[in-house]
Amino acid sequence: MSGSTLSYGAERQEVVAAIRRLEETSVLSRSGHANLSARASDDRMLLTTSGMVRDVTPSDMAVVGLDGTAIEGMLDPTNQEIVEMHSRVYRLRPEVGGIVHTHAPWLLSFAMANQVLPARYEALLRFGQAVDVPVVPWAPRGSDASVSGIVDAFRQEPGTKAVLLGNHGVLVVGESPLAAAALLAVLEEAAEAELTGRAIGGAKDLPLDALGSIRQAMAVHGA
Ligand SMILES: [Zn+2]
Repeated sequence: MSGSTLSYGAERQEVVAAIRRLEETSVLSRSGHANLSARASDDRMLLTTSGMVRDVTPSDMAVVGLDGTAIEGMLDPTNQEIVEMHSRVYRLRPEVGGIVHTHAPWLLSFAMANQVLPARYEALLRFGQAVDVPVVPWAPRGSDASVSGIVDAFRQEPGTKAVLLGNHGVLVVGESPLAAAALLAVLEEAAEAELTGRAIGGAKDLPLDALGSIRQAMAVHGA
């Protein structure tokens, strides 16, 4: 099995599986651009080394401390820029085990328009996303302004597992890389239905109490 001699072999395999899932559900950027990470331990993560992920293998990941220091493996210069985007989210959200960033086509429309994605699709509730997906204003990729905007959005809205990056893409978190990939597919369905639904009068809100019970459950479980 490839990766069997590498550290954190199971986590590496799951990141590869998550990339396959992104492709199968048509949420990977058409260019193949994405970056994914998995929590490897309390203070370490695995991070894909290149911004183009279609051919990633278990060895194409670096072990990076959550303080941002490289531990094992080499990141491409472009991915050096996104270390903080991943590590600071792990530091903020102890329950997060996987993070995916990409430019899923329908979600990208919301990011380009700098509009929040409303939480009113049944499947979002099943994935615990019972609040609108916030959007943070554009800032240069990997800059402190960009990363701080993302972290602040996750802090201000504890119920969200995703943040839209204005004029850029989306960042999704989950208990694992596969969980984040699964939520990304459902978010993409919601974005597509929101936009296509506008031709026939637009999506309608869910009853507030439907959202309320999910939000309460999320608060109790701290998810
Ligand atoms: Zn990007």
